[in-house]
Amino acid sequence: MRCPRCRTTDTKVIDSRDAEEGSTIRRRRACPACQHRFTTYERLEEVPLMVVKSTGRREPFDQSKIVAGVAAACKGRPVPGDRIAQLAVGLEDTMRLHGPDVSTQDIGREVLERLRDLDEVAYLRFASVYKGFDGAADFQRELVLMKRPAPSAARTNPAAEDEAVVL
Ligand SMILES: [Zn+2]
Repeated sequence: MRCPRCRTTDTKVIDSRDAEEGSTIRRRRACPACQHRFTTYERLEEVPLMVVKSTGRREPFDQSKIVAGVAAACKGRPVPGDRIAQLAVGLEDTMRLHGPDVSTQDIGREVLERLRDLDEVAYLRFASVYKGFDGAADFQRELVLMKRPAPSAARTNPAAEDEAVVL
């Protein structure tokens, strides 16, 4: 990387860290010739991420659709908008690792995985749509899955469970 001040090509990286949830790397660089310090951003080359629908149709991944779907599931729940935005960004990063083609099923499964840690009721609402639930037994099964031990803090909230049952 060329020094923007003296044009020396032999600059050194003195610090690297992720920015924007890992999709960008920020590097602090120093020029040994003139001592100039500067920052560069390295971004993953953007290969278009494509979503394969159940009909076989392909369309570009659209992060705003994830946000809209998750926001609908979180309606009336105490989930801040920035957490939903973070979920969508993190999900896109994960999908890119599986890309360039991912299925709507892959996306739905990943949304569920992430909603599990965000809000129980939103998780159940999304699961009911994604898995095409049609009965109490399905909800029961999901509740069991949801209550499996998580590494994060315990979340025993009887109120949330009651609410889920009357969806
Ligand atoms: Zn320099």
